[in-house]
Amino acid sequence: MTAILRAEGLCYSFPGGITALRDLSLTVRRGRKLAILGPNGAGKSTLFLHLNGTLRPSAGRIEVQGQPGSYSRKGLADWRKVVGLVLQDADDQLFAATVFEDVSFGPLNLGLDREAARARVEAALQALNLTDLRDRATHMLSGGQKKRAAIAGAVAMQPQILLLDEPTAGLDHRATEDLITLLERLSADGMTLVFSTHDVDLAHRLADDVALFHDGAVIAQGEATEILSNPALLAQVHLRQPLL
Ligand code: ADP
Ligand code: MG
Repeated sequence: MTAILRAEGLCYSFPGGITALRDLSLTVRRGRKLAILGPNGAGKSTLFLHLNGTLRPSAGRIEVQGQPGSYSRKGLADWRKVVGLVLQDADDQLFAATVFEDVSFGPLNLGLDREAARARVEAALQALNLTDLRDRATHMLSGGQKKRAAIAGAVAMQPQILLLDEPTAGLDHRATEDLITLLERLSADGMTLVFSTHDVDLAHRLADDVALFHDGAVIAQGEATEILSNPALLAQVHLRQPLL
């Protein structure tokens, strides 16, 4: 098994005292789709902020492609080239006037020349079905389109691993289906995906692997088929078996 990303023994408390991660360990396998499944408040978003170096654990460590994550300026820049993060709320991620400008921001900031940056942006727009919306003002997009634009911005950085925090939250049925199709395609093209959700049916449909979250720790991790067919395990985190 090749771990592309590993967290070991992470502990984290927010200033003010709420403990969000308690000795959390997790392995992300290269090329897989991993669902981080657990109820609200379990620590999923806090974990994601650790997995791209935004938050630093008070104990424990993270390994990126076998190397310890480094919190130096250069270390963090390198880390984020490998691990992309899509926040739950697209409005927290989109800030440029148009879709094209927003998706271009990262590649231009990488120091690529205009042509190379442009090629990445075009590929990302195409991958997320946004070529027709490239000149649209970001604030004019629907929820599903905003989510796709936010993902395109991350994809344009060409990370090895894409973290998506509750990617289908707030999307209607059609937008959810479109997004699932697009994520399947990114995965087929070789990207490792990690997504958080409290939706067992989504985890069942999309994930190869599942990590069950409860109260700041992973209480079980394994193949999705194995974890999601274990009602006793799911009941521990107040979830039912998938319906599909
Ligand atoms: P999830 O994403 O699984 O819903 P979070 O990682 O957002 O869970 O939250 C984990 C715990 O940390 C919760 O108890 C939450 O209230 C707390 N928490 C999250 N963000 C903050 C913050 N910025 N300041 C203080 N406590 C926070
Ligand atoms: Mg969250």
